[in-house]
Amino acid sequence: MIVAVAGGKGGVGKTLISTSLARSITSVQFLDCDVEEPNAHIFLQFTPRKSDQVEIEVPQYRKWKGEVCQEGAEFCRYQALVVVNEEMLVFPQLCTSCGGCFILCSDRVLKPMAHQVGRVKMGVSAGGIDLVVGELKVGEQRTVEVIKSVKTRLNRSRNVIIDCPPGNGRPTLEAVRGSEFCLMVTEPTPFGLEDLKGNKQLIDLLGIPAGVVINRSGGLYQEIGRWSAEAGLPILAEVPWDLEIARGAARGRTLQQIDQSWEERLRVLWGDIERLIK
Ligand code: SF4
Repeated sequence: MIVAVAGGKGGVGKTLISTSLARSITSVQFLDCDVEEPNAHIFLQFTPRKSDQVEIEVPQYRKWKGEVCQEGAEFCRYQALVVVNEEMLVFPQLCTSCGGCFILCSDRVLKPMAHQVGRVKMGVSAGGIDLVVGELKVGEQRTVEVIKSVKTRLNRSRNVIIDCPPGNGRPTLEAVRGSEFCLMVTEPTPFGLEDLKGNKQLIDLLGIPAGVVINRSGGLYQEIGRWSAEAGLPILAEVPWDLEIARGAARGRTLQQIDQSWEERLRVLWGDIERLIK
């Protein structure tokens, strides 16, 4: 079973829910696709055993008898390649690795060069969870390439939990794509509701079943429940606004580490997800 845990915005408790769920079931592989700020390893106490670079191909300029490739520079819509004073300048951080300039320019002027955009770490965490963590290199923008690289390690023989990046853009789409279920974590605020609506649009595009977890519930704002019922989204769990939970989560503790009674509630949540997939 492959379950993506998404949240329309950062700070709603997505990683607390995904890591707690991972600890409550057996035979788990956990993919941390929140590559701009991976933190699941803090909750899961991870020992990395292997680390691979994530690279894209960018052009390298080889000055050859003063030649430049004006055509290639004009083709590049991202301005990753420019001609200045009969020299070519390459800006790898802007390159999408589309390969267009290599096709247009002769081999003598531009040649492909590997450029590191991130790293994928693999290892085993406490409780025998296989953990794969994607990390975008500081200053780089190729979030999707790092997420795709994490997902090439997906092991279908295990229960897979994917911690998605926040938001409703392309990185979240790539992280959720191929999952059998999406658990959408939100908070009971007007911002939480708007981001949940965005999450729902994205899930509808992919056509997979979904359910909602409300974190920090119990306040006066009741719109999440009302809107979810209208949208046909089941509320699968609610985590109350509680100082002990907030303190524990800030120290990197999962729900069952904070309060043992969560173990059973998380197993029920996993069972509900299984039923909704069938
Ligand atoms: S590979 Fe594509 S994006 Fe990168 S420099 Fe060449 S044309 Fe621009």
